[in-house]
Amino acid sequence: MADPTTFQFNLPRDRDWPRAPLSERTHDIAWAASGGCASLRGAPPAEAVRVMVIHATAGSSTAGAVSVMKQGRASFHWIVPCKDEKEHGAYVWATCAERLAAWHVRRSCAHPDICAGATNLNRLSLGIEIVNRQDGSDFFSPWQIEATAEIVRYAAGKYPNLAHVVSHARLDPDRRTDPGHNFPWTEFKAMVLD
Ligand SMILES: [Zn+2]
Repeated sequence: MADPTTFQFNLPRDRDWPRAPLSERTHDIAWAASGGCASLRGAPPAEAVRVMVIHATAGSSTAGAVSVMKQGRASFHWIVPCKDEKEHGAYVWATCAERLAAWHVRRSCAHPDICAGATNLNRLSLGIEIVNRQDGSDFFSPWQIEATAEIVRYAAGKYPNLAHVVSHARLDPDRRTDPGHNFPWTEFKAMVLD
């Protein structure tokens, strides 16, 4: 069984990444809520963004994850709907402006293989939430994996310093297991890189 604390790959920067637009729609409720749960990066995003963090919601709906943003507790840049939601197969939701540092990784978290062990990774990262109960029996749909890979490819084309794609579990192994061992990291990596 895959260990989510090992999930990481790095993006080769010596290739032409696609500059195609993303199939995304702005989630108005989340976008408004992000005003209360996101920070300035302290540098232009084209310089600052170095890490893409992959999360799973441990819940069953987009609305549930967005409610956490409405409470001002956490935030993320995109959410990938699950197969029970009508947007599944069509588009992902943009939930926070990319220029802002969403609150999706604890400030103290660090890993020696990521940005030389830097902390405060929210300033340096983008975060994707994938709707999945993460209970061992809820499997990610093929479209969810493709849609997540598409976001990474879009960001690779947009942010020249984006170097690391990593699970939340790798950054915070004592407290987090997401996106969980059901997440097909090897296939996902191949979709991003091939
Ligand atoms: Zn997470």
